[in-house]
Amino acid sequence: MPQQATEFDYLIVGQGIAGSVLAWMLDQRGKKVLIVNSATLPSASKISAGIFNPLTGKKLVKTWLADELFPFAHHFYENVQQKFRTKLVHDKNIYRPFRSVQEQNQYLSQTADETIGKYTAAAPDHRKYTNWVHNPFGGLEVTRSGWIDVPEMLKKMKTYFIEKSQYVETEFDYNSLSVSDLGVEWSGSKFRKVIFCEGVQARENPFFDWLPYNPVKGQILTVQIDGYGIEEIVNQGVWVIPSASGLCRIGATYSWHDLDWQTTADGRAYVESKLAMFLKAPYQVVGQEAGLRPATKDRRPILGLHPAHRTLGIFNGLGTKGVTLAPYFAAQMVACLEEGKELSPEVNIENHFSLYFGT
Ligand SMILES: Cc1cc2nc3c(=O)[nH]c(=O)nc-3n(C[C@H](O)[C@H](O)[C@H](O)COP(=O)(O)OP(=O)(O)OC[C@H]3O[C@@H](n4cnc5c(N)ncnc54)[C@H](O)[C@@H]3O)c2cc1C
Repeated sequence: MPQQATEFDYLIVGQGIAGSVLAWMLDQRGKKVLIVNSATLPSASKISAGIFNPLTGKKLVKTWLADELFPFAHHFYENVQQKFRTKLVHDKNIYRPFRSVQEQNQYLSQTADETIGKYTAAAPDHRKYTNWVHNPFGGLEVTRSGWIDVPEMLKKMKTYFIEKSQYVETEFDYNSLSVSDLGVEWSGSKFRKVIFCEGVQARENPFFDWLPYNPVKGQILTVQIDGYGIEEIVNQGVWVIPSASGLCRIGATYSWHDLDWQTTADGRAYVESKLAMFLKAPYQVVGQEAGLRPATKDRRPILGLHPAHRTLGIFNGLGTKGVTLAPYFAAQMVACLEEGKELSPEVNIENHFSLYFGT
């Protein structure tokens, strides 16, 4: 616990991408935050592939609020990258080989619509993929996509707050919080508010355990593909993110049962079966990771203040798209906290108050 300061504006519980981005924005606004994060509890952000992708799924659906979220997120991460002088933003097109002539026709008719087409490349060079990927029907290249090195960003932000004596590494004990209408007290310090950003562990939070969480388990493989020559992300059922060393990350699975952080043989078999459908090259699996995405029943983030304790807040529910959602909605949360601005109706915790009041 830092010795000097005993009064802070905000206590942020959890330093995944949600807590990090929120704490960073508050800090940059001149607010004094204290982060408390457990070194032993798992974190989805630490294994996240970090992909941002405006057109997703087999049906090539445009990401919710893509036109607003993508420029905002990009600007945010570029800015953080610049501040920390480290490579975080990897802008990469996503190549999607067509599975069939029908899929080719379907995707091409969808991209004829300018609102979708603006996120695709006019004329991808299919030949550069052919040595590595089956693409007899050609493919589509999604643009304005790529990946963020989330673990690296989290590491930098952690160091930043440690150097300011504004970081405590421990598991937060909810019973140790003293809550009043004027503020909260924890471990000898006073705060205007506490904002909980614990990912799926929020289900254990006695103040917010009534929210409609719906975690999604995901698994990723790390594989060695010798001499792999594609810089872009390739995606057909699973994605392949290359790195300079020839190591690639491949994923992911989506499962709503067996909600633990353990890797499974089934998870590996699923990813490998999808990979076999398009990858021509031999590969060797060198790693496997599993995590829980903090999704919600309506697949929207949840932001705002507790219905009864207005000094407690939550920023959670980033689900499968933490990288894309975190900056835009952290900024909304800050504007709500600091200026009393309204939250977007889709993400406002008030949508769920009936669950708390039992009405
Ligand atoms: C396999 C996989 C692949 C993914 N790929 C992508 C992707 O490509 N693109 C994308 O946008 N998203 C992806 N996601 C989703 C993304 O990882 C999540 O949306 C995001 O990480 C959620 O961040 P969070 O901060 O809410 O939760 P977390 O990252 O889980 O962070 C919660 C933090 O709170 C801490 N904590 C919890 N309880 C306590 C407590 N009581 N005391 C102290 N600390 C506590 C934990 O230690 C942790 O550090 C993926 C997820 C998985 C599992």
